[in-house]
Amino acid sequence: MVDDGAYNGGMAKTRGNSAFERLTDRLSRLPGIGRRSAQRIAFYLLKASQEEAEQLAQAVLAFKRDLKVCGACGHVTESDPCPICDDPQRDPGQVLVVEQPSDVASLEQTGVYRGVYHVLMGRLAPLEGVGPGELNIDRLIGRVRGGRVREVILGTNPTLEGDGTALYLAQQLETMGVKLTRLARGIPTGSQLAGASKAVLSDAIQSRRAMVDG
Ligand SMILES: [Zn+2]
Repeated sequence: MVDDGAYNGGMAKTRGNSAFERLTDRLSRLPGIGRRSAQRIAFYLLKASQEEAEQLAQAVLAFKRDLKVCGACGHVTESDPCPICDDPQRDPGQVLVVEQPSDVASLEQTGVYRGVYHVLMGRLAPLEGVGPGELNIDRLIGRVRGGRVREVILGTNPTLEGDGTALYLAQQLETMGVKLTRLARGIPTGSQLAGASKAVLSDAIQSRRAMVDG
């Protein structure tokens, strides 16, 4: 095992199946948390009150118990179907495809969109091993095949990978008789939807453009 040297002296005594080791093992499996960060969190919790540690554990358990993935759109909420898919006032014929549940939250804040969503749970990233099979794409194609969808708005982030994902989806859907549009470029290239202002997002929805002619 590579030792990053951060807590070298202390770690030698905690190797093995200790509670410390079990916690750092678990934490270091989380995305973006390496071994060193996992050790920092563990040391932080060691000094924290019993109450604080319990609140963290309870929050994780409640999150897993209460949150559900919408069977229709893949959004993460406390019900399945999610409140958006379940809302009779929304137009199920218009589907806005986004990368993450947080993008739905950002777009909903604008209040201008009255269709439904489809959450991919990521974007195509061949270098990271994320292919079409890793994303919620089959279900999107199934929704379009189902025949109720008139327009698919590709709302992946305006990054290299987001654009690549939109292009891939357009190629998959172009022969299926739906209108394909892309959110307008008010959002600066390379940025994330979740960081854009309400005004910019409203404009991006309203001035979306056709992806494929016809
Ligand atoms: Zn839904």
